[in-house]
Amino acid sequence: MARYTGPVCKLCRRAGEKLYLKGERCYTPKCALERKGYAPGQHGREAQYSRRRASDYARQLREKQKARRIYGVLERQFRRYYKQALKKRGMTGENLLIILESRLDNVIYRLGFADSRAQARQLVQHGHFVVNGRRTNIPSYLVKPGDQIIVREGSRKRRYFKERAQLLSDYVQRVPAWLALDPQQMSARVLRLPTREEIDLPLQEQLIVEYYSR
Ligand code: SF4
Repeated sequence: MARYTGPVCKLCRRAGEKLYLKGERCYTPKCALERKGYAPGQHGREAQYSRRRASDYARQLREKQKARRIYGVLERQFRRYYKQALKKRGMTGENLLIILESRLDNVIYRLGFADSRAQARQLVQHGHFVVNGRRTNIPSYLVKPGDQIIVREGSRKRRYFKERAQLLSDYVQRVPAWLALDPQQMSARVLRLPTREEIDLPLQEQLIVEYYSR
């Protein structure tokens, strides 16, 4: 199955809540959900008003889809992450979110090198980052404590990264505590893996676990 490349605001409107897929725009009144707070499609408005209480299955499915869309992961890979989470010690739902949060594209977004996870994914694919001394262009690479991430020497001269460098100094306070960013050097280090409390997303991971345990 191909990656979803359609209008992402529709995904938020379908979910009925913000998934923050468009970077800064999501925090402004231009957000499509604020302007059109009903489901997309010809019958979107009616569907909104006649919405019945969703079944347990529907709520579980919706939560799983929400997580997939936030992190931009396809079903097969998402299921693989779930199996990985199941094998780890502790709560499966939390483990799953920690795995998703450890993806390189997410880390690049969290560090402020990109405005959205989709943009971060593209930057990684274009080979702009070096992880532990090796150029890495795999967005699904899972970072580990101690990993060092830097912007590739050649990429620093690009206008995008020159402009980013100026923004990063202000962004440093917003970087989560499990990551350390050096805006001058355009580099970062993974100090540890995040805790559930540090993952500030409106996700009920328990519903995702219930979905896959059926
Ligand atoms: Fe969702 Fe952001 Fe679009 Fe708003 S602007 S609908 S939060 S992707």
